[in-house]
Parts: sequence; structure tokens; C-alpha cells
Amino acid sequence: MSEKIHVYGIIQGVGFRPFVYRIAHEHELRGYVLNFGNGVEIWVEGDKREIDEVLHDLNTEKPPLSKIDEIIIEKVHQKGFEDFTIKKSKKNVSTKSSIIPPDVDICENCLSEMFSRSDRRYHYPFTVCMNCGPRYTTVSYLPYDRQNTTMIDFPLCEKCNEEYTSPTDRRHHAQSICCSDCGPKMMLYNGKRWLVLESHSDEIIIKTAKLLNEGSVIAIKGIGGIHIAAKAIDDVSLLRLRKNLGRPEQPFAVMTRDMETARSFTLVNSIEEELLTSNRKPIVALEKSDKFYLSEYVAPGLHNIAVMLPYTGLHHLLFKELGDTTCVMTSANLPGRPMIKSNKEAFEKLDGVVDYYLLHNRRIANRTDDSVVRVIGDKTSFIRRSRGYVPEPIEMPFAFETDVLGVGPELNNTVTVLNGDQAYVSQYIGDTKKIETLEYHNEVAEHMKRLTGINPLVWGCDLHPGFNTTHHAMENAKKTIKVQHHYAHLVSLMADAMLPRDAKIMGIAADGAGYGTDGTVWGGEILEVSYDDFRRCASLETQPMPGGDAAAYYPSRMVLGILSKVLSDEELAKMKLRFRHENYKEGQIVIEQLRRGVNVIPTTSTGRVLDAISSLLGITHYRSYEGEPAMKLESIARHGKILEIPLRFKIERDGHENRTVLDTTQILLNIYENLDVHSRADLAFSAEDAIATGLAELAINAAEKQGIGTIGLSGGVAYNEHMTTRMREIVESNDFTFILHSKIPTGDGGVSLGQAIIASLKADKK
Ligand SMILES: [Zn+2]
Ligand SMILES: [Zn+2]
Ligand SMILES: [Zn+2]
Repeated sequence: MSEKIHVYGIIQGVGFRPFVYRIAHEHELRGYVLNFGNGVEIWVEGDKREIDEVLHDLNTEKPPLSKIDEIIIEKVHQKGFEDFTIKKSKKNVSTKSSIIPPDVDICENCLSEMFSRSDRRYHYPFTVCMNCGPRYTTVSYLPYDRQNTTMIDFPLCEKCNEEYTSPTDRRHHAQSICCSDCGPKMMLYNGKRWLVLESHSDEIIIKTAKLLNEGSVIAIKGIGGIHIAAKAIDDVSLLRLRKNLGRPEQPFAVMTRDMETARSFTLVNSIEEELLTSNRKPIVALEKSDKFYLSEYVAPGLHNIAVMLPYTGLHHLLFKELGDTTCVMTSANLPGRPMIKSNKEAFEKLDGVVDYYLLHNRRIANRTDDSVVRVIGDKTSFIRRSRGYVPEPIEMPFAFETDVLGVGPELNNTVTVLNGDQAYVSQYIGDTKKIETLEYHNEVAEHMKRLTGINPLVWGCDLHPGFNTTHHAMENAKKTIKVQHHYAHLVSLMADAMLPRDAKIMGIAADGAGYGTDGTVWGGEILEVSYDDFRRCASLETQPMPGGDAAAYYPSRMVLGILSKVLSDEELAKMKLRFRHENYKEGQIVIEQLRRGVNVIPTTSTGRVLDAISSLLGITHYRSYEGEPAMKLESIARHGKILEIPLRFKIERDGHENRTVLDTTQILLNIYENLDVHSRADLAFSAEDAIATGLAELAINAAEKQGIGTIGLSGGVAYNEHMTTRMREIVESNDFTFILHSKIPTGDGGVSLGQAIIASLKADKK
């Protein structure tokens, strides 16, 4: 008998065809296997029992990186094949979507080859096999064949071709394989872009390690983009790097040789260790230990540090020379701009920033930053979901009829392609206010469409009329559906928690800022949420934000805004606050602005209140990166004790309805009056605690009223361990179920998914 089998899932570029070839031969079947568009087609002829066994083996013995979503079997007429072969790929793309796997780290087999003197790949940094190495970052088109990847620039040598074509070799049909005879090579340039060394040999690695040890700042090209490396104990190098990059305070990630070295300066629990050593190799935010010995300029003012382990052959070779020297390994980008990926761009943009460039001649098709995670309680919280995870689809709790592209909001952006019961959430894109990043955003959206073979006519975007992503959607989609920011946050949470189609939750959206349906800035909301609709039940108190966005950069403005409700102008003027110009005149101007109500934007944002507390406690006066004031507040609060801050709730009029709000003015006033009485740590801890408790109580009251049993938390504030833990304790002790994100970011990186879901369901109705 004969059958045609179509397999969908993560099956291209993972050794699936050689695997099918092997099992077909084991069962003495005839026919072929080939990649077509976005799946694998298998034709088998032979004994029925043997065919059934092959079908069984497909599921039970598939290659480690593969994932099967669907198998469709069709009875066909026998063609009389004489042998079983791997055939050339077909181009046509079906409506089903399959996708290539994410980039994973170099495997143990390749590592041992790379460090074995007798191996022909001894010390060759681009060593990979079927089970490891770059994937997503190298692919331009589907199907995933060498000619559709950036490896097309490197024709296989005779020996590599032998491995590639031999069905029993572990590099059979491995699209990225190469060796020092045929593959990419490294080049070391000095700051004047003069070629210092060009080779595959140890010399270039030894030289680079020596330069790092001597204090040089070096651009190093990786698989998804270019990093900047510098010795992490070297104050002088790091200060110089910060100045040249225009990143005065933003924490740098570090790369360290192994777990033992990581433990020499951090506290690592078992979940964190598992993440650090997994083949996805994300950056993990770890607590600095008492023995922390790296430079204070790696992660200034923070209690934790972002750490990753080597994940490419090059990293391993470098750390063999560096030993226990830990290096800063930060994405090479100017503030708000995308990570640099080409050699030419590196030369242009890092001129004067780095002393050397360690580059290679393989192009990067898809720029992909390192993923960043933080473990809160026993949950993994994605700060960035990128390399190692993207483009792996996220399973949805039910299937969607209409395909949608979610374009995300503005900051920390991602895009999502929603298709059936799968969501393809893109890598971290960044701040789309910047035109370069917006271009990158549009490029990623096009690429996700190409790779999934889906071209959604409906696009979901933010309600904010001024976002570049909203404009882009309006100009390019057949149909655009605008979605309120926090509604999108909470729906992405519902899908993340696999809640069914008819579920309802009381959602806490504790966030920076999002455009509300009333045109004000929301961000501390209690929303009753279903997949179809939402209702605003309660929030933080509405506070004045003098100067709009300026108040986000200079949180002292928020302090004056909030306290102007309860303190006289004379009292406000006496406060020891710092502003842009380091003089007190600006405070006077802000006070007048508040009294006259000029450019004062109302906001219920949780982030802005935390910023104000950070400024009032003298922790942060200027936000040099997103989330800085609240992150530094959290670090100070860690060793604080709880003080009694009485919570007050009041009523605000919301159109025709009344809304209960948490009085944040009283919280701030309480801290102000206790500045000389209690320690900064105690005040910081108690203020965070008060806001978390207030939000939890508001949610519990609203949930009780509506008879809803589940309370969920989404938004950037959920990265705060203390506040999230406190909300969980209160919610659970009141017998409600508490849900948090686990697979997609709780910050704005998850918003594109929420937009896509809501837009898909709305489109069906119309
Ligand atoms: Zn390998
Ligand atoms: Zn070769
Ligand atoms: Zn948000």
C-alpha cells in the first residue's frame, strides 16, 4: 500500500528529513521525503504494518529540536518507487503554518569536537550540527534549505558535502554546517578599522582575550547581532563605554564562563540555574551576593545583575582564554535604536565607542537580541523573549478564525501573527518612537508573515493616536482594529494562562502608561475582562502629570504634581527635589504650571507613582532608561521593614459612573512626613507594599461584586518581586485564584498578542 503524509510543526532545520530517511530504511519502505513551503511531505510505499510503525516512530523518536503539531495522512495510488530518497524541496506554501526552530546553543558533541586536537573542526568557532546552532537568525525564506539562508555565501567543501549528503552522518542535511576550509572566518580590526588579524586560528582568539584583559572595549559579532564586550571588573573601561554609548546608568548584561563563576558573585537558585544552562541560554537576572566583586558600573544602583553563559563556539573559545574573567556583553546599540547587525553598520555607529572589532563574514538575516528573564517566586517572567525562543509559536487556548497581525504599542515592542490556535510572537524590537526602530519593526512584521506563510488582512494596534505603530497599521492594513493598551495586556495574560473562551477575570493592570478610552493616561487599573470586552471598575487616584512626558523623565515633577493637592506652594518650594537644570527655579516653574493647569496631563499610572516615591526618597531624579526609578526603588526596598501606612480609598466621578480609587496622595504625604523619622529602605518597602495592597484590595472588592473567581496581574510593575508577591499573598488568602504571565512578557512585549486576539474576535463579529 502507499500513503502521503504531511507533517506540520517545527520540522524544518532540525534533522527531520534525515530522521524520516533513517526510519523509512529501517522499515524497508520506498518513496521520498521533502520539505515543502512550511511542512514536510513523506511518500511511503510498502507493507502496511511497517508504514504504521513509521507513523508511530514519527511521534516517539523525532529529533530533539523538533515539535509536531499536526500529521495529515492521505491514501494514494502506488507509484512504484524503487528506493527511499530525500528529494529536493517544493516551493508551494500551503495554508497550514510550520516554522523553523529558534537558535540554540552549541551542543556537547560539537563542543567536544571543537576541543579535540585530532578533529578537523579543532578550534573552529562556527562548528554546528543538526541539533545545535543558529536557525532563525540565518533564514531569509522558507523552506529552510541552505540556499535560503545566509550560509548560501559559503559553498560546502568536499568533506563537508560528504557529511551533508551522507544519511548516516549527524550533519546530514544540517543547513548551517561548515568548516575552516569552506565556512565563515573571523576578522579583528582596530578602532581605525585596520585589519589586525584574519584567521580561523587560535591567534585571533588569544589576541582578543588579551585585549579584553588589558581593558579594551571590543565589538563582537555573534549570531543574532553585535555585542560590546569589556572586562566587568574594569571601572575605567566601563565608565568610558557608558559615556561613549550615552547609557549612563542602564544595566549591562555580563557573560561568564560557567555556573561556578556565576556563583562567585551572585545567588542562584535551582530554577535560575536550569534557565542559565538550558540550550536556549537566556540572560537571567540574578541577585548580587555579598561577595559581588564586579564593577559597580555594570548594574549601578541595582540589587541584581543580568548574567548569561557562553552559547556559541566563539564564546567558548574566548572563555577558555579568559578563564574566570567575566565580561560585560551588551547589545551594541545606541539608546532606543535596534541592535547593530552588519559589519558596515558597526564601523559607522561604533566609531569612537569601541577600541576593536571582532567580526565575521556571515550575514545576519534576522537580528535577534538575547532573551532576558527574571524568576519571581517559582515563575519565569520574560523581560525580553527573543533569541532561543523566537519564532517558536505559543499555543493558544482555542482556535481563532481570523488571522491577525498585532503591531504592538510603542516601547519594548514586539509583533504577533495569530493563526488558528498558534501565536507567533516576534523577538524584542524596542522603542518605535525612533524611526530606525520603526523600520526594524516593519521589517520584522514582514518577515514573520513570510516565515509563517500568513498574510493577515486584519491588524490590531494601540488606541493611542500618536503611536508610529498605529499609523503604520492604519496605512497598511486592509482593516485596523484599535485596542486599549491595558485590555490587551490582560487578554494576553488570559491566553498565557490558557483560560477558555468564556472566561472572565478581574485584571490588575499595573503599568507605566497607556492611552485610556477617556483620553487620559491609564496604568493602575482594575478591569473586568473577558476575551470580548472589558469594563473599568477601579484604579489608582488620578494624578496630575505636569509637562506630560517630561514628568516621566523627571519624576520630581510627579512629586510636586501629587503633593500640590495637599501642600501649599511655600511648602512645595521648600522641598529638596532635583530637576533637569540642577537648580530650584524649575520647581517654581512646575508649581506655577500646576496652579494654572497648563500642559498638565491626568494619569492613574502605577509607574508614575513609583517614580515619584523614588524621587521623594532621593533615589532617582532623572530616568535615563525605561523603568529606572522603580527598579532602583525596588533595590533600596529589599532590606526594608514594614511601617504602617494607612490606606484610604475614595470615589472619583467617571462620566456617569462612580469609580473607587486608591488615594495615592496620602501615601506620598505619609512618606514625605516621615522622611526624617524612618530609613529610606523602610519607607521604600512600605510604599511599595501600600500600593500593592491597595491594588489587590480594589481587585478583590470588584471581583466579589461581580462574582469573579480569578484575579490576574499584568503590566510592567509585575516585574517587581515584592509587589507581585504581596498581591499574590493577599489575593490567594482571600480564596481567589491568582494568575501571572509565564510564556510571554508581562511588560509591553506581550501587548501585540493581546491586540491580535481581541482584533481577531472583533473581526469575526462584524
Ligand atoms: Zn552540535
Ligand atoms: Zn567545509
Ligand atoms: Zn503597558
